[in-house]
Amino acid sequence: MYKGIGASPGIAVGKVLLFKKEDIVIESGAVDDVEKEQNRFHGALKKTREQIEEIKRRTLAEQQAILDAHLMILEDPELIGGVEGAIRAEKLNAEAALEKVMNMFIAIFESMENGYMKERAADIRDVGERLLMNLLGKELPNLAKLKEPVIIVAHDLTPSDTAQLDRENVLGFVTDIGGRTSHSAIMARTMEIPAVVGLKDITQHVKNGDILVFDGEEGIVLVNPEDALVREYARKREEQLQAKKELRKLINSSTISTDGRKVELGCNIGNPKDAKKADENGAEGIGLYRTEFLYMDRTSLPTEEEQLEAYKAVLEIMGKRPVIIRTLDIGGDKELPYMNLPKEMNPFLGYRAIRICLDRKEIFKTQLRALLRAGIYGNLKIMYPMISSVEEVRAANKILEEAKQELQHEGKDYASNIAVGIMVEIPAAAVISDMLAREVDFFSIGTNDLIQYTTAVDRMNEKIAHLYNPFHPALLRLIKLVIDNGHKAGIWVGMCGEAAGDKRLIPVFLGMGLDELSMGAGSILPARKQIQSLSYEEMKVVADQVLQMDTAEEIEKFVTKLCK
Ligand code: PEP
Ligand code: MG
Repeated sequence: MYKGIGASPGIAVGKVLLFKKEDIVIESGAVDDVEKEQNRFHGALKKTREQIEEIKRRTLAEQQAILDAHLMILEDPELIGGVEGAIRAEKLNAEAALEKVMNMFIAIFESMENGYMKERAADIRDVGERLLMNLLGKELPNLAKLKEPVIIVAHDLTPSDTAQLDRENVLGFVTDIGGRTSHSAIMARTMEIPAVVGLKDITQHVKNGDILVFDGEEGIVLVNPEDALVREYARKREEQLQAKKELRKLINSSTISTDGRKVELGCNIGNPKDAKKADENGAEGIGLYRTEFLYMDRTSLPTEEEQLEAYKAVLEIMGKRPVIIRTLDIGGDKELPYMNLPKEMNPFLGYRAIRICLDRKEIFKTQLRALLRAGIYGNLKIMYPMISSVEEVRAANKILEEAKQELQHEGKDYASNIAVGIMVEIPAAAVISDMLAREVDFFSIGTNDLIQYTTAVDRMNEKIAHLYNPFHPALLRLIKLVIDNGHKAGIWVGMCGEAAGDKRLIPVFLGMGLDELSMGAGSILPARKQIQSLSYEEMKVVADQVLQMDTAEEIEKFVTKLCK
């Protein structure tokens, strides 16, 4: 048995196809004809662009953004200028010049502390590899057309390998390297293909035709297991597929407890394409649109018009359903290299989110203008992240008012009555939630940050991951306080941190009186099914019981048993 990182849930049972790329050998040596090498490089750029555009045409809409990012790498002036310079100044052939520049770029990204940015080195490697193969006149192996159903076993799958996967015949994939946030893992989840990554050396332990069984949730991989085990996993797989089919029947039903308490189930998204997925999974709204992704994977700030297009696209997909768009939450673990933000000792306690927006007003106002203008296309609500005081809400609202006046003055259409809420993700905000409730139209509790700030546990630090605990009594007390304070002031209270989709905590949150839960698309239908089977009155008692417990361990045990 091999244990890796469960990257995309689901069980796969099938024959192995080992996916290997040949080693690329680059001959270096001084060249005489610099012009010829420059032309070869530009020819390869063109061919690579055509290939990526072709892959893009054949892939799911959700994945096109990744391929767009690849096309942008091909246009990067520093990359092109760097290679041209190396050919000219160092008389390198195009292959050697390209390898040198690409390696430099990869090293820069790999040295970044932020996990997301680190993973982007894989995109550069992917594009670089394709360029090199085109320079050498070689073809990359292709996973787009397979003869029979297989499980792909690879050292790594690049984003473009993954985008091309033959979805009819790929039962799943497992890889030596990669983490939960690598593009191949993210794409596997979008494509709903089971996957396990980070298995270290699984490619050394299998050969073509071996039988592989794996569980993409647990991260467990078995090679040539006994027949009885194969049958058991095949049966589990059937059960999962059947359960998934059953869940789909709930797509248009509302989320109401057995005794009539309604909860709104929203979806968390990062781009307009995710909104389609939300819609397909029965979301009753968008509970969190993380707009920072609109600012990432590019080299300068998005313009007002670009933002307007993105927000409008989401609003149009969701129609009358509410769409909560969160203003820029950059800093912390999300870097924007082009903003040149200084390195900090404690980025999560530093220059981040609303703090940047209130300081760099022009960036914030551009976003608010785009939001106000987008508001006419649907049911938009604006949400400020990282609020810790009443002053911050007032300062942000003042800029919002200025943005409205500007638009009015310019004669541009905008929605004047947009609800404005805040993320409650800093303990200070939870403690003064009675006061904050008088300033805003809604609260959305961000447990991801609320856990880290309440218990002083860095959410990115693997060494103390065992201390990062959504069952901590302090967290649950704060959540209850926020809900009660919101309700006393007559505003609704939702939650959009990861805990909102945790089946062990959903009964407790229902009992505490949360009005809305927002989660990843895949969790919506299971949560609906669960809530439809629970009684609100009974869960109130459960929530009270949980709030009396002394330890996270006791709470976790109790709620885990409850949802079995
Ligand atoms: C949170 O902190 O719970 C949250 C939803 O925001 P993010 O994960 O983007 O910080
Ligand atoms: Mg947060």
